[in-house]
Amino acid sequence: MLKVDEEIFLKYGHEFIDWIADYMDHIEDYPVMAKVEPGEIASRLPTAPPDEPESMEAIFNDFKHIIVPGMTHWQHPSFFAYFPANSSAPSVLAELLTAALGAQCMIWQTSPAATELEEVVMDWLRQMLNLPDNFCGVIQDTASTSTLAALLCARERVTNFDVNLHGFKKGSPRDLIIYASEEVHSSIEKGVKIAGFGKDNLRLIPAGPDFAMLPEELEKAIENDKKAGRLPCCVVATVGTTSSTAMDPLKPIGEICERHRIWFHVDGALAGTAAILPEMRHLLDGIEHADSFVFNPHKWMFTNFDCSAYFCKDPKSLTSTFEILPEYLKTDLDRRVKNFRDWGIPLGRRFRALKLWFVIRHFGIKGLREKIRTHLELAREFESWLREDPRFELMAPVSVNLVCFRYNPPERSLTEEELENINKNLMDELNRSGNMYVTHTKLKEKFTIRLVVGQTNTGREHVQRAWASIQEAAKDL
Ligand SMILES: *Cc1c(COP(=O)(O)O)cnc(C)c1O
Repeated sequence: MLKVDEEIFLKYGHEFIDWIADYMDHIEDYPVMAKVEPGEIASRLPTAPPDEPESMEAIFNDFKHIIVPGMTHWQHPSFFAYFPANSSAPSVLAELLTAALGAQCMIWQTSPAATELEEVVMDWLRQMLNLPDNFCGVIQDTASTSTLAALLCARERVTNFDVNLHGFKKGSPRDLIIYASEEVHSSIEKGVKIAGFGKDNLRLIPAGPDFAMLPEELEKAIENDKKAGRLPCCVVATVGTTSSTAMDPLKPIGEICERHRIWFHVDGALAGTAAILPEMRHLLDGIEHADSFVFNPHKWMFTNFDCSAYFCKDPKSLTSTFEILPEYLKTDLDRRVKNFRDWGIPLGRRFRALKLWFVIRHFGIKGLREKIRTHLELAREFESWLREDPRFELMAPVSVNLVCFRYNPPERSLTEEELENINKNLMDELNRSGNMYVTHTKLKEKFTIRLVVGQTNTGREHVQRAWASIQEAAKDL
């Protein structure tokens, strides 16, 4: 290493670690949601790159004074917005080592340990979720990519690799149809467009009052399409929808898929993690029918973004769909090893297994279960407080760590429009305070505030404080 780099590392390596430790320690002093206007941060940065080298001191200083104030603090324990993207000390430390190694882990030979560690930790995850023995895992960057991979595998299986060879041609193959509930995540529509099915061929199946897909409606839609000469290709079920963590019933949906020979993909991006608890494993009942399943350790398993766990029954579905073999990537070992470049969309791959390995070892299954169990209990407790206050309405069943609610005192007989305005104001006021961060959705057209308990260090006091702020703010509505 060049001398100058060594010096920078010794000085700033230590300084950065000190800063990180202090940040973690004092994160509650920061407003959860960034308090900046659009354009404010860019206006403080030079519009042209520097000609001359700059000192690390100057760069670090700008990081602290320009960048950090423009950040929303996802690791703040009062972050209750969206779904979490939580992290932890062992994960951050592993990311540092990953960056130092700087490896590009596309094939076994380019980093044998990265490939083999990924095989091992993905099998650990399989065991932790009690997935069937014949499920085989690979790490993808996001659930969106995982689902796109599943859609492409489904497309190739149902057309016997015809689209890979000839592309979609007019009239051949016939219209391929994808099914998902009306509550499905937007990444499915995106995947359907990218994979060439066309949005018109995505059937959004009605959900019941609990926002879960109605299997009888799914079967009706499949039969209609078959009668019309279309080819059902893939069903996507969700374990924990993004709006309300609704649970599509995997068993009946899986049986329908088997009867009609349709690829069955299960999206458990957030809620999959809960299945590491024996008492919550029922969330995955029926998973044995799935061809593929994804959940995100980067959401709710204390592993830095990005780390999405994709499992499938038949890894050949991936390799036959994605395999490419240019001369410059051939090695003598190709028959004996896994080359993960053929298990997904990008060629280049980060060493993501390392942080997952650190996290699982650091907490142990016991420690991970304890944290998840705490989040579930806190969500239940928040739900019970809401139920006791007649000014508030629970908007969906609480199945894991998300509580959907709104302010709606019966004696005020507010219209839907008034309710939307009032609840939007309530949410904005809570977020402006900097003390907590919640986001919203619409459930059956009704404006709904979502509170998700999922940050690594969220404790009872944070949920309690959030509830106190909500009650206080409701006085002036
Ligand atoms: C968050 C989420 C996704 C997308 O996750 P990414 O990893 O950001 O692509 C997909 N499906 C569901 C149900 C989600 O909640």
